[in-house]
Amino acid sequence: MDGKGLAARVRADVAGEVSGLGRPIGLATVLVGEDPASAVYVRRKREACEEVGIESIHHELPEDSSEEELLALVDELNGDERVTGMLVQLPLPEQIDEDRVIRAISPTKDVDGFHPVSAGYLLQGRPTFVAATPSGIIELLQAYEIELAGARAVVVGRSNIVGKPMALLLLAEHATVTICHSRTRELAAIVREADVVVAAVGRPATVTAGMVKPGATVIDVGINRVDGKMVGDVAEDVRQVAGHLTPVPGGVGPMTIASLLRNTVRAAGYQAGLLAFPRG
Ligand code: NDP
Repeated sequence: MDGKGLAARVRADVAGEVSGLGRPIGLATVLVGEDPASAVYVRRKREACEEVGIESIHHELPEDSSEEELLALVDELNGDERVTGMLVQLPLPEQIDEDRVIRAISPTKDVDGFHPVSAGYLLQGRPTFVAATPSGIIELLQAYEIELAGARAVVVGRSNIVGKPMALLLLAEHATVTICHSRTRELAAIVREADVVVAAVGRPATVTAGMVKPGATVIDVGINRVDGKMVGDVAEDVRQVAGHLTPVPGGVGPMTIASLLRNTVRAAGYQAGLLAFPRG
């Protein structure tokens, strides 16, 4: 499944929406510290913004920044009209409480969808901002016309940013969803039942060919480094069995960034009063 190609089409679509809105849109990104992977992710997000006409408003704080300094910046961005949406790149240095920072972001600007308000609305089936990775995966599945209603879906991984929202989105599409994690017994047997498998673990070869039903759709979220090479969570041999498979790189990653742009346009909709942000 060509996430890279679809993401390019989504960016073109978003560029049209941005110019149609007729008001400036700005995405604030906050990077704390020197983590090289985080720096790469933030750079890609900023480049994607610029490509579609969204202003990139970038802030960098040193590794030894205090939680108070970061919270003060988040507060400033919450009140800044130029900032349509914002994200604080994770992970944060250990002296900073990630949950507290996420909670400080205004729920109307929470384009990452990590705020408990965003997560709660998703759980209730009236989503505001949905985490970009699972939301990009749903768009990819829909573009390839993968039947989800009534399908058996297995999500391996239960993080707040990928596994859980992924399971909720598949449920909203009427799939029958099973969530697996590190304590799951008989993972292979459960995965083998699935029409759609999403692997979001962070461990190479968690899903192997023997675990996949012939013809199943396999979504590989993982990003792992093995001998300097980037690999996912799905073993090479799955290609021979799966009906559809996302490559790493070029599958889920580009769709994640494309969905972040969609969320930023949504934030602009809330701020312009074109979309109603749910109350209570
Ligand atoms: P987390 O580490 O937060 O979660 C990993 C999950 O995998 C946990 O729920 C854990 O279970 C489960 N797990 C660990 N080992 C096993 C096992 N042996 N069998 C079954 N389940 C297991 O990671 P994230 O959700 O943040 O990310 C997952 C992967 O996706 C990472 O490689 C990350 O880099 C990548 N990623 C890629 C993105 C992209 O754009 N392509 C975006 C975000 C993430 P338990 O809860 O029991 O510990």
